[in-house]
Amino acid sequence: MLQLSYDLGSLEEIDDCLQDAELKRHAARHRATLVQFFASRVDAGSIPDLHRKVTEYLPQAIVTGITTAGEIHEGESMLRRTVVVFSFFETAELQLLSYTCCPGQEQSVGRKLTDDILKEKSAAPIKGIQLYATTQRINAAGLLENMKRRLGPTFPVFGAGASSYDNNGEACVFAGEQGYEDGVVAVVFRGRELEIEAYPCLGWEPLSRAMTVTETESPMLVRTLDGVPAASVYEKYLGIQNDENFFNHMLEFPLMLSRDGAVLARVPMLRRSNGSLQLVADVYEGEEVRITYGNPKHIIAAAYDMQKKLARFRPQGVLVFSCYCRQVYLKDGLNLETAGFRDIAPSAGFYTYGEFYGRGEDLALHNATMVAVGMREGAVSDMPSKPVQDQVSFVESPPMEMKARLARFVGVVVEELEQANRELKELMQTDGLTGIYNRRKMDELLGDIFAFGEPGLPCSIVLLDIDWFKRINDTHGHLCGDEVLKRTASILRKHVRGKGEAGRWGGEEFLLLLPDTTSAAAEAFAERIRIEMEQTDFGEAARVTASFGVTTSIPGEAIRQLFKRADEALYSAKRAGRNRVVLH
Ligand code: GH3
Ligand code: MG
Ligand code: MG
Repeated sequence: MLQLSYDLGSLEEIDDCLQDAELKRHAARHRATLVQFFASRVDAGSIPDLHRKVTEYLPQAIVTGITTAGEIHEGESMLRRTVVVFSFFETAELQLLSYTCCPGQEQSVGRKLTDDILKEKSAAPIKGIQLYATTQRINAAGLLENMKRRLGPTFPVFGAGASSYDNNGEACVFAGEQGYEDGVVAVVFRGRELEIEAYPCLGWEPLSRAMTVTETESPMLVRTLDGVPAASVYEKYLGIQNDENFFNHMLEFPLMLSRDGAVLARVPMLRRSNGSLQLVADVYEGEEVRITYGNPKHIIAAAYDMQKKLARFRPQGVLVFSCYCRQVYLKDGLNLETAGFRDIAPSAGFYTYGEFYGRGEDLALHNATMVAVGMREGAVSDMPSKPVQDQVSFVESPPMEMKARLARFVGVVVEELEQANRELKELMQTDGLTGIYNRRKMDELLGDIFAFGEPGLPCSIVLLDIDWFKRINDTHGHLCGDEVLKRTASILRKHVRGKGEAGRWGGEEFLLLLPDTTSAAAEAFAERIRIEMEQTDFGEAARVTASFGVTTSIPGEAIRQLFKRADEALYSAKRAGRNRVVLH
């Protein structure tokens, strides 16, 4: 495989570049050619002409392209250029697929695309799929649904969302003669000799406290975070106003979430008048997000680590898809994250609105991420690759250094606050004397079971009251009484582990919550605890017993009714002579 790329002022300069004798020589010697345009501006009307020009010189070439928000050529980041990449393959086969994809069609297009990939009759195995899409207008999660399920994890899928300078909406992708303002273009790489690896790097870190997505209008439109309009969070923490610069300011602070073990960034693109935020990719109600901030040192270090990994793969050509928000953020040192590619292999790429990356089930549209794709064909060369230059040392300019320090400062403060919050929460829900849950927490847990538990499943509760406790206090003193309470709590804790929860309900009364437990099982459970209490040596207090009221929830009833029954059962146990279990 061989990759050649040219940095052009515009698409019109393609004629000069096609005259390059080297191009024709390679085309003649290779079986398949992929020509890609990473263009800052595309006039849709000129696409057929562009295709004609390229195929006149390189008849077998597959031509594709995408609009960018910045270009990358041989390790250099640039603005308002056009990069054309020629990838020549000796044995690999290329399949070009493209579809119109308007909002609402994502799933059906994804299904058709997957069908078309799988039904292609080729003896050569798939080694990778490149995906370009107009991600700004569609929900990419829908598009990927079928691919995730049916393509399997043996090869990477990578690519990007079409972007546009100044977010003015003129994004497009193209395939052959066809341009798409709403579309998807895939290139399937097949070959026995071909090897493709894709690597992601993020480097952004979560900064704000976790906020819950409380309401969405659609997967990409978040209405509220923690119950307040999503955009107001940006106003509150970052002072970002809803003006014409909103998008550019937001870019530096994507949201971040963890899903199935993967960390995903989500860039807000637009603020609706009702305070909702339009994101580049999907987020769901109940997920926790944080506002992030980039420490330039960590971002560059992450890029460097990725480049070292890529270098070990010994690629012959590299494609780079980096998020527009990285470009905006690293403004002062635009080249820092891409310079390392110069030492690895011929490389070309661009800045995007969303990066496709993953294998099988892990395939997702990422944000704020840089994805690098290495390709090689045939034997790996014995030539040792040049060591990749670490760019971190260049993050020394005063503004960068300042950003790094501030990011660190905020990070440490948030970490301290979160630790304090965790401790406070712990304090608020535990009983000071016994260390088990207090009444407030038990109320909350029971409320959750009633609100979110499966309606069909029985939930049992056990109310337990120590017998003649006042006498223990009176005879042996309050401290001895306290010891009995602690001892009782530890017995309860041991018994409920894995089965439910135990809490102090007040005084010498305790409550046990047993979800998914029938009344017979709960009664037997209480009986085991009763016996253990009876047989336990409580030290100074010696023998201590307790009475138990057991009951099970009835579908549709209120929590109040459940407690009334448990209370009645406990009262019966006391009246009948104490030290016994009564099931209501
Ligand atoms: P019964 O068998 O009917 O339950 O009799 P009892 O003596 O256990 O019931 P009663 O409700 O009359 O007495 C409960 C006593 O528990 C009264 C109160 O002083 C004592 N108590 C409540 N909280 C604590 C505590 O935290 N520590 C100690 N040592 N005693 C407590
Ligand atoms: Mg009592
Ligand atoms: Mg009592």
